[in-house]
Amino acid sequence: AVMVGRRVRSRRRWWKVVTAVQELEAAAATPVGRLRQVVDAMAVEMHAGLASEGGSKLKMLLTFVDNLPDGENGIYYALHVGGTNFRILKIQLGGQRSILGRDVERKPIPQSLMTSTSEEFFDFIALALKEFIERMGNNLQLSQVRGKDLGFTFSFPVKQTSVSSGTLIKWTKGFAIEDMVEKDVVECLQKALSRRGLDMNVAALVNDSVGTLAVGHFLDKDTVAAVVIGTGTNACYLERADAVIKCQGLLSTSGGMVINMEWGNFWSSHLPRTSYDTDLDVESQNPNDQGFEKMISGMYLGDIVRRVIHRLSIESDIFGPLSYKLSTRFVLSTPLMAAMHEDDSPDLREVAKILEETLDIRDVPLKARKIMVKVCDVVTRRAARLVAAGIVGILKKIGRDGTGGISSGRIKGYKSGKMRRTVVAVEGGLYTSYTVFREYLNEAVAEILGEEIAPYVILKTMEDGSGIGAAMLAASNSARSVDTVQ
Ligand code: BGC
Repeated sequence: AVMVGRRVRSRRRWWKVVTAVQELEAAAATPVGRLRQVVDAMAVEMHAGLASEGGSKLKMLLTFVDNLPDGENGIYYALHVGGTNFRILKIQLGGQRSILGRDVERKPIPQSLMTSTSEEFFDFIALALKEFIERMGNNLQLSQVRGKDLGFTFSFPVKQTSVSSGTLIKWTKGFAIEDMVEKDVVECLQKALSRRGLDMNVAALVNDSVGTLAVGHFLDKDTVAAVVIGTGTNACYLERADAVIKCQGLLSTSGGMVINMEWGNFWSSHLPRTSYDTDLDVESQNPNDQGFEKMISGMYLGDIVRRVIHRLSIESDIFGPLSYKLSTRFVLSTPLMAAMHEDDSPDLREVAKILEETLDIRDVPLKARKIMVKVCDVVTRRAARLVAAGIVGILKKIGRDGTGGISSGRIKGYKSGKMRRTVVAVEGGLYTSYTVFREYLNEAVAEILGEEIAPYVILKTMEDGSGIGAAMLAASNSARSVDTVQ
């Protein structure tokens, strides 16, 4: 009787696990109909954000980039701050769409600096740049970079006042240097450079998505938008100046301008939110903020999975005794989650190894390892498909989604009657290094657009795009006078 009782109990627990996973799948489902609702919501919010300041959760920020580079020459430096790693770049541009050389150095940003003071933070950056220049030039005299233009990629929401100045609106992605908020970012960097004896000129302050668009456009003229899916997520695109209603009069109406959407903060009731997302948000450093980002980007995906496994471990014993590590936030990083998801060994060896080394969960049966992979799949699939919907939302806003329809091979609603090739530049580790994520994303874009339109829309990977783009924008902005608003 005892044996039977035990078996029944354990079966009951297994049943609980199956139910919880099914509930997760249902709550996180992204059938194409729902994705189309997200597409529409994205386009509507874009309009609202362009119509008035504060008109939408989408900030739709001006970048003052109205002229994407195409034939720059020379050597430029760039700094990129914004995710887990800080990057320093030296780029040699050869005009005519060619990047002749690049040196990139990555440095992890110490956790303590992410919550320090602006002075400490920028001192660290300036020192790293100085050391980089010395190394690159075989101890070349710092005087040789005197007056050289520097591009600065700063991947946070910034209210720009010109292409080379702007104030920080808020921090995201776990950064919290309170005295920086509302300060001019370039001024802080410029002062730190002087303190280190570096006489360089910050000629462009750009968001990483904008840098990615600049490189994308440099390499392929049909590039109209860029998306970043790394630690955080964002998108930008080329907008007609007359569509930026909130700034009528300030911009010359003839041209266009790159708009930094800050789509990480997008929200819509159509988003498939689960109880795990709600908990993650409540416990985060920025509750009620960056809702889209928290369902999509690298900082959070691993932690959503951890929350699901935690619940399964409380409700059953399939993962053995409850590991205290499962209640530690961010203990399961997204790269480890991807490694488990992409484990193709028959006995899921990699999954077992990561469960043991990272979560202190040992000797779990194969069926529990399979559950782990399934949970990773549900979380990643949803994220990738939501990005796809966001991308199509942008295309819809700028009339490149073909919703005019096609008749006899011609697209309705196009003056010339022909659908134009549309390229979206994509950068960030989730897209470049997480194959399943990339495949789900590409697949969903095609599914939403349909087979007639999909062949005209191309997603192109831009590794290090954001930093290189900042160097290019520094190059193209150094010589010209910049527009300024107060
Ligand atoms: C920031 C954006 C940035 C994105 C990707 C978000 O958290 O708000 O400015 O572009 O992360 O790095």
